[in-house]
Amino acid sequence: MPSTVFDLAGKKVWVAGHRGMVGGAIVRRLASEGCEVLVSSRKDVDLRRQEEVEAWLEKNRPDAIFVAAAKVGGIFANNSYPAEFLYDNLILEANIVHAAHKVGVKKLLFLGSSCIYPKFADQPIVEEALLTGALEPTNEWYAIAKIAGIKLCQAYRKQYGCDFISAMPTNLYGPGDNFDLNSSHVVPALLRKAHDAKEAGASSITVWGTGTPRREFLHVDDCADACVHLMKVYSDDVHVNVGSGTDITILELTGLICEVVGFSGDIVHDLSKPDGTPRKLMSADRLRALGWAPSISLRDGLADAYKAFLGGNYAERVQGNAA
Ligand code: GDP
Repeated sequence: MPSTVFDLAGKKVWVAGHRGMVGGAIVRRLASEGCEVLVSSRKDVDLRRQEEVEAWLEKNRPDAIFVAAAKVGGIFANNSYPAEFLYDNLILEANIVHAAHKVGVKKLLFLGSSCIYPKFADQPIVEEALLTGALEPTNEWYAIAKIAGIKLCQAYRKQYGCDFISAMPTNLYGPGDNFDLNSSHVVPALLRKAHDAKEAGASSITVWGTGTPRREFLHVDDCADACVHLMKVYSDDVHVNVGSGTDITILELTGLICEVVGFSGDIVHDLSKPDGTPRKLMSADRLRALGWAPSISLRDGLADAYKAFLGGNYAERVQGNAA
């Protein structure tokens, strides 16, 4: 286990994007770190406005920042709102990173996504595969913004010596997810479809695409734990993959979700919807070498996500925006 390079105890830590699934999980995880957690609402600071971000940081002066704020969404939302996915993400990360440097924030962790990698990268995808090939077109807008975020952290480290690091989580799911069928990712979408079909006594659910793409999934609490770990032990310019290290097909995932929900009907494919990238499994080697491994199995994690779905009020959740 590498030794701690940044101790969170006694520090002021800003979780930007605490209303999102990942930011919320990081806030929960930080409760046991003995630090003061700062959060901000859109009313306090619109992260897309540079003066507001600078003023907020000037006033609150955190020691560390988790950049979990992002305009997020699944394959359909990404493909449908390219301008928002590119502009909102670029501007908010640039504002936060630059202002963090200006007020002397000691440590910053930027959260990206596994979609930064080339569509046909060798699997499992190592960190060095970044910028070695063309991106998957359905999410290239988001991916370009997230690549720029990694580069911002590297540039501020290189030019100013800022201890800014980046973590690239795989497909995440869990409590606080977005269950809106047009903008959600596959796990919440299928949990909801299976649940609604069970409730309605329907004979089938519809899965987008062929069901053959392979994806890696990680429960958001595992992701938050990994981010806190990295904040404490990692200080380098290479971004770090955060994943489970295993993947399954969308059809296998559908089977697992139907079991968890208790739906036993048929699976129908909507082939008018895109498959997206054929496979997206990241190498977990760098993170393992840094002393971290996930602790929540996919089945247990899905059961937990379903429990959260049943307990939460998701009707009002619209297109995901953690900013
Ligand atoms: P991606 O990893 O960026 O492609 O994001 P998603 O989580 O949205 O989609 C993952 C895969 O699940 C793609 O192949 C989708 O076509 C497939 N999929 C199957 N059914 C659904 C669904 O109801 N919603 C979503 N978002 N994806 C689905």
